[in-house]
Amino acid sequence: MESALVKDNPLLFPLNKQKTLYDGFITVLERDFRLRVLLPPDGQLKGARLHCCWQLRQVLQGYEHIVKQRLQQSADLVTFILELKTVLVRRRSTPWLEVGLKSRPECRSIPPPRYYSQLISEMETLGWGRLLFIDTEFRTLRLKAEDSSGRQHVLTVKLKSRHPAEAPECSADLPVPLDITWTPQSTLDQLHSQFLLVLESLTEFWEVLDEIDSKTWILEPEKPSRSDTMRRIAIGTNVSIKVELDPRHPKMLPECCLLGAEHVVTPLRNKLNANMHLWNPDSGVLLNLRDVLEIEFPSPATHEKSSFSVECGICYSYRLEAAIPDQVCNDPRCGQPFHQACLYEWLRALPSSRQSFNIVFGECPYCSKPITVKMSAQQS
Ligand SMILES: [Zn+2]
Ligand SMILES: [Zn+2]
Repeated sequence: MESALVKDNPLLFPLNKQKTLYDGFITVLERDFRLRVLLPPDGQLKGARLHCCWQLRQVLQGYEHIVKQRLQQSADLVTFILELKTVLVRRRSTPWLEVGLKSRPECRSIPPPRYYSQLISEMETLGWGRLLFIDTEFRTLRLKAEDSSGRQHVLTVKLKSRHPAEAPECSADLPVPLDITWTPQSTLDQLHSQFLLVLESLTEFWEVLDEIDSKTWILEPEKPSRSDTMRRIAIGTNVSIKVELDPRHPKMLPECCLLGAEHVVTPLRNKLNANMHLWNPDSGVLLNLRDVLEIEFPSPATHEKSSFSVECGICYSYRLEAAIPDQVCNDPRCGQPFHQACLYEWLRALPSSRQSFNIVFGECPYCSKPITVKMSAQQS
């Protein structure tokens, strides 16, 4: 049934897997009418509902009962659509062809009918299996793509009403800008191929990050996305390293920033500076970091994450909005971490604290040893 329906009405197709929701256009006397048919779960027409665009409703005025009756009694959807078209042709005596698109200014943004036939033929070339989502206006598409390592990616395409004359807006979860070359002859299939090439140029970057993510404890970002170039890797309790990879040269020495109490961070920083020349772009980033810092990273196989995610000593939580407790008391016997915002508010409230520009000098709420906190721009 479906194939006959699509053949006679190439602009009408099911929106869901169960084939109980059809949406699209029927063409009568070179006019396109938007309609939507909702079938009950059994797929039978009995109990089906028809939603028409206002132009179609206007043309069918006075014939609603007939249409409703035919909908309930037709053998199948193909028969019903055929009957509906017949009713529409009979209504030709009324000046419905003048039922104006002109009178409704918002209709100007509705693409011309050839937009839909063009879209369907492009999707047929690309393969419907690659369509993850299409909105009810048929303007926003999400296409799936798999890179050569089997990672799944999504390309979001917003088509313009003058498609394909005008280039669509494309976006994806990538660490680099998505540059797409589009000409008025371009198709979605070509767009998809270009996207696959972009993905291939980034597989090494994702390989490096996938290794880091699987073999270490990542403190930040909480849920890394494919566009994230930064990882904060736990080294020990209250010590971590923040690395920022270059997506174009992922195996080169990344930008590194060691975070934690001074007495632990200083020796690590010295090793990083002394051993930097040992960095070998042919071996993995994680292996290089290990050799340069002369440490073993705690891994999910050997350690619990809770030993690195120590809560803030002031608010007793780990995450404060997006922030984690990254201000650490430098006293080796204390080492208590705090959120920057918590420590700043705490110290500022104490008369014994001293402020100079955006730095507050005070005492650690835990061990009373000197502690300072710098206010970041957005909080001051
Ligand atoms: Zn806190
Ligand atoms: Zn302390």
